Amino acid sequence: AKARGKGVVLEFEPRMRCDYERRGRLESDMKSALANEEIMPFYQMQVDVESGELVGFEALARWRHPEFGWISPDEFIPIAESSSQIIDLGRAILWTACRHARDFPAHVGVSVNLSVGQMLRGDIAATVADVLAATGFPASRLTLEVTESVMISEPDRAMRMLGRLKRLGVSIALDDFGTGYSALGYLRQFDWDELKIDKSFVDNLGRDPRSLSIVRSVADLAGQLGIKVVAEGVETVTQHEILRGTGCNVIQGYLFGRPEPIDQVHVAMLRSLAS
Ligand code: C2E
Ligand code: CA
Ligand code: CA
Ligand code: CA
Repeated sequence: AKARGKGVVLEFEPRMRCDYERRGRLESDMKSALANEEIMPFYQMQVDVESGELVGFEALARWRHPEFGWISPDEFIPIAESSSQIIDLGRAILWTACRHARDFPAHVGVSVNLSVGQMLRGDIAATVADVLAATGFPASRLTLEVTESVMISEPDRAMRMLGRLKRLGVSIALDDFGTGYSALGYLRQFDWDELKIDKSFVDNLGRDPRSLSIVRSVADLAGQLGIKVVAEGVETVTQHEILRGTGCNVIQGYLFGRPEPIDQVHVAMLRSLAS
C-alpha cells in the first residue's frame, strides 16, 4: 500500500483496511456461521451469595471462525445489530440455550441476553414463545437480560414488548445496572424481576467505600421492590466476602467460573452436585 501511496495519511491505511475488511468478512460470513453452528452460547455460572450453590447460568455468545479463530461478542454482536442479522443470531442463541438448559437440574435457570435490535425490530415475544414451545423448556426457568439502551429510542414499544415477554412467564433482568443515565426512572416504569449490578461497581469494592455504599443501597432498594439482585464480575474472594450481607442475592464472575462450552458445563455441574 505504501508503494502506491502519496504521503503520511497512507501510513495508516493497511491496518484500517484490515479492520474494515475483517468487519466485512464477519458480516458476510455470519449467515453460514449460524447454519454451521460456528456461533454458539458458552455458559457462565451464577451462584447464591450465601450458600455458594449453583442457581443458574448466563449464556454468552461465542463465534469460532474457521479463519480468525474465537471472536468476542463485543465484536460480532454490533455487526449483527447493524446488518439486521441480529434477529437470526438472537433466535439461534436462544434456541440452543433453551435446548441445552432443558437438561440442567430443575432448580437451575438460564439467562439469555437480548439486544436492542431484537427488542425493536423483530417480534421477540413471538420468537420466545416459539422457542419455548419447540424446546419444551419451561418459561419459569428462562431469564431475558436487557440493558436500559432498549428504552432509549422507542421507550413505548420497548415497554410493550417487555410486558408481552413477562406475560409469557419468563423473568426480565435489567443488565449493566448503574452504567446509564436514568436507571431509577426505569425501576419505576417496569416490574423487573432481576437487576444486574455492573462489574464496574464490583471491581471497586474493598478499594472505594463509595462503591460499597452504592451496591448496598441498590441492593436494599431492589429488595424493597422485590427484585432479585445479581452482582457480576466477581473475581476475588475479598469481593465475595464484601458482597455477603449487602443484600445481593446472586453472584457471577471468574472467581466461580469463566464462560465455558456446554460439555464443560456438564462436568462442572456434576462436580457441584457431588459436593
Ligand atoms: P454482559 O451481558 O454484561 O456479559 C458479561 C461479560 O462480562 C461477559 O463478556 C463475561 O464473559 C464477562 N465477565 C463475567 N465475569 C467476569 C469477571 O469476573 N471478570 C471479567 N473481566 N469479565 C467477566 P462477554 O462474554 O465477552 O460478552 C460481552 C458482552 O457481549 C455481554 O456483556 C453482552 O452485552 C454481549 N453479549 C454476549 N452474548 C450475547 C448474546 O447472545 N446476545 C446479545 N444480544 N449480546 C450478547
Ligand atoms: Ca448480560
Ligand atoms: Ca452485564
Ligand atoms: Ca456489559
